[in-house]
Amino acid sequence: MRPLNMIICAKPVPDSRYWDKLTLDPKTKTLRREGIPIVISPLDKNAIEEALKIKEQRGGKVSVISMGPPNTTEVLAMAYALGVDEAVLLSDRAFAGADTLATAAALGTGIKKLGDFDIIMFGNESLDGSTGQVGPQVAEFLGIPSFTRVEKVEFVDDNTVKVQTRIEGGYMITESKLPVALAVTKDINQVRLMPVFGALWATEKQTKVYSATDVAAVKEQIGTPGSPTWVSDVTSIDMRRKGEIIKGEPAEVARKLVEKLKAAGVLPEA
Ligand SMILES: Cc1cc2nc3c(=O)[nH]c(=O)nc-3n(C[C@H](O)[C@H](O)[C@H](O)COP(=O)(O)OP(=O)(O)OC[C@H]3O[C@@H](n4cnc5c(N)ncnc54)[C@H](O)[C@@H]3O)c2cc1C
Repeated sequence: MRPLNMIICAKPVPDSRYWDKLTLDPKTKTLRREGIPIVISPLDKNAIEEALKIKEQRGGKVSVISMGPPNTTEVLAMAYALGVDEAVLLSDRAFAGADTLATAAALGTGIKKLGDFDIIMFGNESLDGSTGQVGPQVAEFLGIPSFTRVEKVEFVDDNTVKVQTRIEGGYMITESKLPVALAVTKDINQVRLMPVFGALWATEKQTKVYSATDVAAVKEQIGTPGSPTWVSDVTSIDMRRKGEIIKGEPAEVARKLVEKLKAAGVLPEA
């Protein structure tokens, strides 16, 4: 069995326990993330888990790459604690303001800098933005086949994978030559608990931080200049409902409720 080189794209996202503290910048229409603890987007942990499992069977190397602000190194320490071999952070003002396409260009450029690879893995969608676009866009950038909603991966031979993907009402099995990009769902595996010595490994390892110049990123492809989409408006939805209590005898309450539902068009007129 040939050892494989695997790279996981891991997005730093605000810890969901602090989401009530998140606010929107009215000018840029982006989230104000300052002061909110960050974690690895949950499905990216499934991707890391799958790569570690493959490495346990076949040998090889598991690298993680993130694009984010400098404090993303805290999140990448968690990846080291889980057992990855190498973590790389792309961090530079030149990457800021990126939409999904410019994010994919930055990650794709960073992946090229890491050298040869066999499998690139993503979460199927991130916890916060959740567009599910970045995985396929990175694959397109690198010119390799890609699969989304991946829930099982097996090897046919050293250079071919069999991929099970979720589709409406069932699943589909496809084979692909390596290198390949896989965007995984939570059903692919159960993420391991951090090993006992995980925190110790993490303190011994150092995340490499690369600027846009370090990875020779093309200025027009990254950050705001590389983003063909922009947020033109953001609206907060008021989720509170107007409550109304109908009082009286049960039969009377039921009759009034039916009348109200008919008046609101929820129930058809008899
Ligand atoms: C016009 C515009 C401007 C924006 N400006 C900003 C900004 O200034 N600051 C900001 O923080 N966000 C900004 N965003 C949001 C940013 O584009 C998204 O967070 C990013 O592209 C990822 O999109 P997503 O969350 O939908 O990822 P998805 O496509 O749902 O993610 C799928 C998978 O791709 C991988 N992935 C995605 N993003 C990363 C990453 N950064 N590093 C590593 N892997 C990743 C992960 O494996 C993830 O599970 C902006 C968006 C738009 C449209």
